[in-house]
Amino acid sequence: MPKIYLIDVTNRDGVQTAKLGLSKLEKTMINVYLNEMGVFQSEFGFPITKHESFYLQANLELAEMGVLKPIRLGGWIRAVTSDVETAFRLVPHIRHLNLSISTSDQMIGGKFQGRKRRSDIINDMVEAVDTARALGAETIGVNAEDASRTELDFLIKFGHAAKEHGADRLRYCDTLGYDNPFTIYETVRTLAEDIGVAIELHCHGDLGMAVANSIAGARGAIDGGQDAYINTTVNGIGERAGNADLVAVILAVTKSKGFTDKYQLGGSIDLSKAWKIAKFASYAFGVPLPMNQPGVGANAFAHESGIHADGVLKDPENYELYGFEELGRGEPEFVETGREIIAGQYSGISGFRHIMGEMEVSFANREEASEVLELVRYANVESQKPLVEDELLFIAKYPKITKKLLTMIPLE
Ligand SMILES: [Zn+2]
Repeated sequence: MPKIYLIDVTNRDGVQTAKLGLSKLEKTMINVYLNEMGVFQSEFGFPITKHESFYLQANLELAEMGVLKPIRLGGWIRAVTSDVETAFRLVPHIRHLNLSISTSDQMIGGKFQGRKRRSDIINDMVEAVDTARALGAETIGVNAEDASRTELDFLIKFGHAAKEHGADRLRYCDTLGYDNPFTIYETVRTLAEDIGVAIELHCHGDLGMAVANSIAGARGAIDGGQDAYINTTVNGIGERAGNADLVAVILAVTKSKGFTDKYQLGGSIDLSKAWKIAKFASYAFGVPLPMNQPGVGANAFAHESGIHADGVLKDPENYELYGFEELGRGEPEFVETGREIIAGQYSGISGFRHIMGEMEVSFANREEASEVLELVRYANVESQKPLVEDELLFIAKYPKITKKLLTMIPLE
């Protein structure tokens, strides 16, 4: 039976969102948390963007060291040969790629303005796939941008060409959030049956249906005999109204009425990490979690009205579909209300040793402590907000990797 896998695109779609971004260390922490959660793949960045190079290389090293394992780290680039070549030049060890090109007549006409025809779209894409494979790509996803506004016959032709050239997955991008669960089911099922390739569902929330469309599309892929890969972002952060929220997708797949009878997650997802990753992403993006956010919002398990409160106290299942413990909630959180010593870009060694000591981290000597402190300063320069405990622990544990991922050389 085909299964559903999760490809989280926070570090690609999430960070390209207007007015929002993450530091390289924050992106790394997202990869670490996604790995702990059991997410299949993280689309961890842009291999042709120069300021990403060292971050991407450092994260691939973490994968090699077994720290980011078993998660796959995939890069996103345009389906253009020159981009593929640049990606392998800047990030030689990249092994998983998604290659993206617009397929709708709207985009072909509106973006390429007559410079490309449908046949050029397919040619560019297959050349990019061939080049990626020749340069060492192990898995390749081909993205049909604006697939939901693409004529079905052309989309099928595009998918067949991708498959013939060895692409592993076709990403169905509902770029504008135009689909509804009924249309995406039919289209994706047809694609899966006709092309015979695994389908990625990339859904946006412009009409408020990103999660619903994702699971309807996944069902279409599975009914069509293929694995489904749902693209998510943490807290649904993404272009405009956002993407399918990671936690909500997991809840929808595992808890919604009758869905798991036939449609199940591949691999094992640890939902108890949901609270931690949602809180961290909220802090790192600087975007508060809406109080009605599924599972992780402040009101997700709050009851006030008489009938509800009485009912949930008698039996939580009266008014709750799932327990807060399942999402890793319910532990008391420590908030300092008195004196605070903060690690930042101008911190000194004494304050820093105090902070690390509180976390029971000790250093062999002053030199080692100074080296880690220097990295903490740089990490803070980039993020411009106090580092959280996990970030400090990461830096202390992997100073060499941290040094690499913080490296940016704009003049080269
Ligand atoms: Zn997107």
